[in-house]
Amino acid sequence: MAIVKYFGHAAFEVRLKGFDGREKIVLIDPWLSNPLSPVNPRDYVRETSRLDYIIVTHDHGDHLGDTEYIAKETGARVVAIFDLAVNLSKKEIETIDANVGGRIKVDDLFIVLTPAIHSSSHGNPVGVVVGGEDIRIYHAGDTGLFAEMQYIHELYNPDIALLPIGGHYTMGVEEAAKAVELLKPKIAIPMHYNTFPPIKADPTKFKEIVEKKTSTKVVILKPGEQIQYP
Ligand code: ZN
Repeated sequence: MAIVKYFGHAAFEVRLKGFDGREKIVLIDPWLSNPLSPVNPRDYVRETSRLDYIIVTHDHGDHLGDTEYIAKETGARVVAIFDLAVNLSKKEIETIDANVGGRIKVDDLFIVLTPAIHSSSHGNPVGVVVGGEDIRIYHAGDTGLFAEMQYIHELYNPDIALLPIGGHYTMGVEEAAKAVELLKPKIAIPMHYNTFPPIKADPTKFKEIVEKKTSTKVVILKPGEQIQYP
């Protein structure tokens, strides 16, 4: 059984069973000091027994967030696009530099960086598919809609898709609903909305459109809430 917890904006913690049979804890885009977050980075570090990986989709502040602090405090390895990882490694953070393409060679989890249509200062922005024994999750990062999301479904078949719906900088509600049609996850969870005025969006509208058009279930998580899967 896996647990996916939302910290607001694009920040998620995933607890899942690794291929070594042990629970793995992964933080994605850990901006835990975002205005909606239920916990500050200091308390998170204090309350978390262990952190295995931090995955950063790109270097914008609302995604790179508190990576440096949390990585140093926990010793978690940071997975990022090559250019960003090189930059982070100069700050004495243990990194796994990778790029968009195939499976990253770590033993305990399935991790693939996927394309994202967006911008960034260090390397290309990415999404990520992360999985273990019992689940595969796709975190889209910041992105517009792109047709190759269909390949993410065909190749990796994620059970859960975490999708930005805020518009302005990323997909909005309608584009994200189209993304669900391509990704065909069992569950879609909206993210990257209502943190600031430009990304105001209505997640219930997203749920309405998706559940009318597809068999995917939309789960709206408030910051601090989590779901179990399966
Ligand atoms: Zn961004």
